[in-house]
Amino acid sequence: MCTQTQFKNTLVLGLGKTGIDVARYLAPRAESVTLYGGAASTDGPAADELRALGIEVVLATEKVEGHYELAVVSPGISERSEFFSAAAACSDEVIGEPEFAYRQSPDRWVAITGTNGKTTTTSLTTALLQGGGLSARSVGNIGTLVTAALDDRADDEWFVAELSSYQLATSKELHPKAACLLNITPDHLAWHGSMEAYAEAKEKLFQNFDPSDLAVVSVDDEWCRAVAERLDARGLRVCRVTTGSDPDGSCAAFTRGEMLIVRLDGVEHELCRVDDMLLKGEHNVQNALSAAALALEVGVSRDDVVRVLKTFSALEHRIEPCGELDGIHFVNDSKATNTDSVEKALTAFKPGTVVLLLGGKDKGTDLSSLMAAAAADCRAVVCFGAAGPRMEEAARAACATTGVQVVSAAHLAEALDAGIELAGPGDTVLLSPACASFDEFNSFEHRGEVFKQLVAERINQTKEVS
Ligand code: ADP
Repeated sequence: MCTQTQFKNTLVLGLGKTGIDVARYLAPRAESVTLYGGAASTDGPAADELRALGIEVVLATEKVEGHYELAVVSPGISERSEFFSAAAACSDEVIGEPEFAYRQSPDRWVAITGTNGKTTTTSLTTALLQGGGLSARSVGNIGTLVTAALDDRADDEWFVAELSSYQLATSKELHPKAACLLNITPDHLAWHGSMEAYAEAKEKLFQNFDPSDLAVVSVDDEWCRAVAERLDARGLRVCRVTTGSDPDGSCAAFTRGEMLIVRLDGVEHELCRVDDMLLKGEHNVQNALSAAALALEVGVSRDDVVRVLKTFSALEHRIEPCGELDGIHFVNDSKATNTDSVEKALTAFKPGTVVLLLGGKDKGTDLSSLMAAAAADCRAVVCFGAAGPRMEEAARAACATTGVQVVSAAHLAEALDAGIELAGPGDTVLLSPACASFDEFNSFEHRGEVFKQLVAERINQTKEVS
């Protein structure tokens, strides 16, 4: 049950999902709630609904006025923005939404962050906790805001919170029992300003840890390794995760041969073989090891962990098989919106069997490592959308001596058709675009839905002809 705190004058920034849910929650608990929607905010049903709750809604300006005890800021608003500074200047304290929810209901939190793999690891951790007979719910960045889950939170319920760097940047007291940092690779740099600031925001996940908590941290990238060392220096329990061999230490999660192993405080749990899982790819080995370490830490038995690991399947839009045509497999990985996630996705397939569809709205990140992986692992690369020309140039340079074909297509539909032309039986046409979707679609989900629909149409056309 959440504590019913009484607030005085409160400020909420943003009229998206976060702002609306926080304002709704505050309305009956605060003397006053003022919501600033931001420069581009306009009147409509959302504003009307909030006004009906007694909330003052200020639209189309970022010049915040008044004085507030507490400001809760939506994750889309950068700490470096004038809007944020204006709010900070008139507030005793500015915090983000998960921090706000944490203060309302601080027990039984497990939290997960990282550049990639958050949603998969969060869902899997929740499934593992539930499989172990615990009451658990995925909250946060994954869909249901933590604040929206407060009202009907059961006394014994675990919150498994997916937290983004934006949300962590403004956290102060947030203190999960166990938390996991999956990876830190370049993304969202415009919001944070630099890679250092981005990494620092992620590290805030552990800022209030004490030696009874468990930090589950990857050691497969240099930014995370540095975090693990700093946590060691604070005398914390650090479970180092690697898809490679035993990293040593009393807590660790790794593979021994084909076997997944988690060791906590010197006690080793042999879980299952990599191939026993429905989740595929090296990145999913990392996600599974991390989720298993969190679950074992909060008391789920080894046997329950193994049972769930063997039955948990891929989430929608994440290496999601979506059809077969004349022996060609189609896989929707529309959620892969940055280069690292595509490199990881390629590890889920036999080298030389992938026709990779790359493109969308360009994030401007360096493409050399991605294209080296594509040149080594793909049969062909199809570049499409706004980022198509830059992708194509980089792919051609990397594939020049490898025999991997590189072609271009205007949009996703043409890219799929080009992919089908280039693939043969046993190959996979993989949409793993390394880009945002907004040049052609509303969201990565929309792009994935359209891809699956296009695939279904191609399959049906063939059936009608034959
Ligand atoms: P997030 O919620 O962090 O965006 P998801 O679980 O939705 O992560 O996965 C997004 C994409 O990132 C997947 O489609 C997959 O290609 C890739 N991915 C998943 N897990 C990892 C990981 N541990 N490391 C790198 N890439 C990953």
